[in-house]
Order: sequence, then C-alpha cells, then structure tokens
Amino acid sequence: MSSIAVVNAGSSSLKFAVFDAAETPVLRLKGAIDGIGATPRARLSRADGATLLDEALAPENFDHAAATRTMMRIAAPWLDGADISAVGHRVVHGGGVFSAPLRITEADMEALARFIPLAPLHQPHNLAVIRAMLAEHPQLPQVACFDTAFHATQPPIAQAFALPRKYSQAGLRRYGFHGISYQYVAGRLKEVAPDLASRRVIVAHLGNGASLCGMIDGGSVASTMGFTTVDGLMMGTRCGALDPGALLHLMDHYGLGPREVEDLIYRQSGLLGVSGLSADMRALRASAAAQAKEAIALFVYRIRREIGSLAAALGGLDALVFTAGIGENDAATRAEVAAGCAWLGVELDDTANRAAQTKISAPQSSVAVFVIPTNEELEIARSAYRLVRPN
Ligand code: AMP
Repeated sequence: MSSIAVVNAGSSSLKFAVFDAAETPVLRLKGAIDGIGATPRARLSRADGATLLDEALAPENFDHAAATRTMMRIAAPWLDGADISAVGHRVVHGGGVFSAPLRITEADMEALARFIPLAPLHQPHNLAVIRAMLAEHPQLPQVACFDTAFHATQPPIAQAFALPRKYSQAGLRRYGFHGISYQYVAGRLKEVAPDLASRRVIVAHLGNGASLCGMIDGGSVASTMGFTTVDGLMMGTRCGALDPGALLHLMDHYGLGPREVEDLIYRQSGLLGVSGLSADMRALRASAAAQAKEAIALFVYRIRREIGSLAAALGGLDALVFTAGIGENDAATRAEVAAGCAWLGVELDDTANRAAQTKISAPQSSVAVFVIPTNEELEIARSAYRLVRPN
C-alpha cells in the first residue's frame, strides 16, 4: 500500500491531506501549516478529526519550502509504512497550455510562472511548493491539477474577449477557475441526481473565492471568472467584475500603479472593502452594522444577476447547486439567492435548506436545488493516482 499527498498552498498556509493510493482514494490524514513567514504552527489530524499533532515551529527562515519539509516529516510516522508515492498539487492557472492533470518537471515551471500575475493570490505559492518538492524529492512524482482545466470544454464564444485578434491569439481570453471543485461536484451530482446531471446546471462555488459555472452534460459551458481570478462575482476580498474604465480612472485620477491596483482589486475589495469590517461571511452575518448588511446584499445581488446571465448562456436552467464555505454553510445566502431566482422557477423548501439537506428545493420547484459539499483534495488525489498508478 502506498499513499498520495495532496497540497494546497496559500500565501501563509499550506493545507495538505494524505490518502491511501487507490482508484477511490481514502482519506488517512489531514493537516495544515499556518503562519508561514510569521509564527508558523503545524497541525495534523486523523481522517476522523482526532488531533495527532499541534505544535509551534521555529519562525527563522520558515518559508514554503520549510513548510513542505515539515509536512513530510510530521506525516511520515502516521503512514504505517505506506510511503508517499506521489504528491498532487492544486495549481490555479494552467493557461491554454495545461488542460489536464500533469506530472510536472522543472521544464514546466517557467511556463507556469508566466501565469503568476493572473492569479497572484495563489499561483506563486502553488509553484513555490512544487519547486521545493522537485528539489528535495526529485524521484517523487509531482502532479499538478489545474483550476482552469475543467473549463477547456467551453465553446470559443464563451472564452472570447471583444479585443483585437492579436491579443486573443496571444492567449488573452476567459479561462475560468475553481475547476477542481466543479469537476468534483459534477461527479457527485451524477450520483445524487443522475437524470439531471446531463442537463442545464449552474454550480455556485461560494467560498472566500467565488464563481459560478454553467454546465451541460457535466462539462463547463460558461463561467463567471475569466482571464484572471478577479472577474465575475464579488468575493471575500476581490471586487469581481468591474468596468474596465474604472481601472483607468483609478490609475489616471488616483495615480495608482499596476501593483497598487492589483492590491486594491484582489485584497482590499469584495466583502471586506464594502463592509469595511471583514471578508468573512460569518462575521458579517453576526454584525448589526448597516455596512455589513450592504456588503451581503451586494454579494447576493451579484450572484442573482450572474445566475441570470449563465441561464441565458445555457438556454434555461434545470438544476442549481451550492458548494464551498458559504454555499454549504450559509442557509441565509442560499435563501436570498433563491428568492431572487423565483422568476426562473426556483423555490426552496425552507426546512430542507436550513438543515442543509442534499436536495433543498420544494417539490413544485421547476429548478432542482442542491447543496453538495465540495472535496477538491479528493479530486486531486484521484487525478494524481490515475497518473502514477501501476498499469
Ligand atoms: P472557503 O473559501 O470555501 O473555505 O469558504 C470561506 C467562507 O465560507 C468564509 O466567508 C466563511 O465565513 C464562510 N463560512 C464558513 N462557514 C460558514 C457558516 N457556518 N456560515 C456562514 N459562512 C460560513
């Protein structure tokens, strides 16, 4: 028996999971190294949630490479000899080049680094961890799974910007993200509602990052995120779709440079920027401040409008699925979004919604509505196993 490690690197954290290597991988360990660059801390638990380790680490020179070494060190004693045979990585941007999971080599790293400006919150950290792994464990397969890959099936018209051709030919187009999550949810929908999975479906991935994906027959047809991860819905700290003229105004009138605009639209906007309080939906729901309510109202309004847009791209709607932190846990957001989609025939069963049952639509609703918890780690473990399994 061997195992597959799955790594999801953020700016100051490295989340990981270890699965038994199998066609249907089974979760064995879950862990996180938080506070990278500040006060690092390692946590490890068993699949059932029982804590195995929770320790502060020495902060000196503690970067993503050190976090990678820590992960390998703390997981090893709990593997019962089931050595790690591959590491699967979430990589946010694969551009037009990488449209399937890939065993990555040093030669691929330069191409992937070119996408750093297009996903600045994630891509540099994703790559830092892969680079450290390639250097320290050159024989260990490193498999990259791309958040863009699921959207490669979109028709060219859904991917196009109305820019002069030389730019689109150079790759300036809509890609779409959260694809690992959408792939997992599409698979689960097939199990939960096989009759609907082939029809017109919108999946709402509402987490700290948020996007919608329109699917037909389980494949992406259109999505709200585009060339970068800042487009589409309002998010925790990202503004979502913005009149491109507003960016010019910010530069001309406020004298902001490109990196300052980047910081504004990726890190200071969204729920955080509008509320002035927090990027976290739980904190906003708990707040009595008018600005918190306004931030939530705008978040919901943007989702409703974009659902309308995707329903138009799909030519109607048969099912709506909520997933990710807010989509899975915040019954109020689901109810508010659904109320705004009544014109599409969406009607929730309030009790089922409050209990976050799998199916939350009322029997008479002409659109079936579901809550399907996402599992990006499992999807990555599956993809990594398929690439490295013995034939
Ligand atoms: P994710 O990026 O998928 O981990 O989602 C993070 C978002 O989910 C944050 O805005 C959290 O506030 C939100 N979230 C998590 N749990 C809850 C909950 N019980 N109620 C409301 N929002 C939640």
